[in-house]
Amino acid sequence: MVRQDPIIPGKTIGILGGGQLGRMFAITARRMGYRVHALDPAPDCPTGQVADVEWSAPYDDVDTALKFARAVDVVTFEFENIPYETLQRVAEVVPVHPAPLVLDTTRHRLREKTFLQTHGFPLAPFRAVQSVDDLRVAVSQLGAPCILKTATFGYDGKGQTRIDDAAQCDEAWRKLGQPMGVLEGLVHFTCELSVIVARARTGEVAVFPVAENAHAQHILDVTVVPARVPVATQRAAVDVAVSVAKALDLVGVLAVELFWLEDDSAAGTLLVNELAPRPHNSGHFSIDACITSQFEQQLRAVCGLPLGDVELLRPVAMANLLGDLWQAGEPRWQAALAIPDVKLHLYGKTQARPGRKMGHLTTMGTTVDEAERKVRAARAALGGNGA
Ligand code: AMP
Repeated sequence: MVRQDPIIPGKTIGILGGGQLGRMFAITARRMGYRVHALDPAPDCPTGQVADVEWSAPYDDVDTALKFARAVDVVTFEFENIPYETLQRVAEVVPVHPAPLVLDTTRHRLREKTFLQTHGFPLAPFRAVQSVDDLRVAVSQLGAPCILKTATFGYDGKGQTRIDDAAQCDEAWRKLGQPMGVLEGLVHFTCELSVIVARARTGEVAVFPVAENAHAQHILDVTVVPARVPVATQRAAVDVAVSVAKALDLVGVLAVELFWLEDDSAAGTLLVNELAPRPHNSGHFSIDACITSQFEQQLRAVCGLPLGDVELLRPVAMANLLGDLWQAGEPRWQAALAIPDVKLHLYGKTQARPGRKMGHLTTMGTTVDEAERKVRAARAALGGNGA
């Protein structure tokens, strides 16, 4: 049994995964007087650049992970595809939050969906498929159009193939290239929402205001908060998120992505799309627009401290900056920053590949629509192809 005293400022936090989520977490943790160690396979990773100590090793290098674990007081993660074996071994040395089992459930699409279904949460219809024959049967049961998704390593629409006709099954299965897939019915949603909930070791929860998300090419493009949906929908979305966090016995931060379908009922229909047991791209607004950010909540939760106030100061919009924006040359930073209330966040990535998340902009407004207009204008002012 490992120690579970509160981890107070001055102590050392280990983060597995070195991307932008770890970077924003590390910046917050250092601001609050913690030391941070980051482990990622790639040297000079976004988190490593701002951590006190950067460990570079593959995630399945258990020996290095154990040395890393012995050097810190608590471990969290920012990336879903940490092998369960590594996380479990680390958890024998030092507290890990969220628990390895939470990650194991949510990193695998079929396990996640089965968990949600078992606990009675509403989902799009789905079928597990392990062969092209399974796929044909599943397509005939769910009906086209539908979407074939990989069971693992799927995010930002990677590993997804839309099937409009049963004749496309062979090709879709070949493209999947994995022994297991999940076929999902296509949802004709009105909009996509997400809810970010923090849950402490005591069971205390704090829920950020509901976010409305617009995607482009399956990648999050713009988030506005509060979501432009009825209050009944917002309440229902919050209820789902809190219930999922409880069902997972989560300690940390959880993002629940939802599809919202408008109908005759007050709240409409909400279907859970995906879970992420960590801060989420759609929660970046909280850095500039809430009293406590999603990263500070992660820190407080994993350290066993009281959660912070999640009050939204003003309506806000966040726009992602993808690598596409760099294809026409360096973005025109001065032009966007000439809009005085634009906040720029860049993640320290040197290679701007199309589709790669390089940073984001946040702008607040007196209304959500105004904030959205301003953030889109600021991004357009950067030039490139991301306008
Ligand atoms: P995912 O990686 O599963 O979150 O999917 C990325 C995006 O693809 C979602 O945010 C949706 O915009 C779209 N998408 C995924 N699954 C479905 C579905 N079953 N029906 C309609 N759109 C979907």
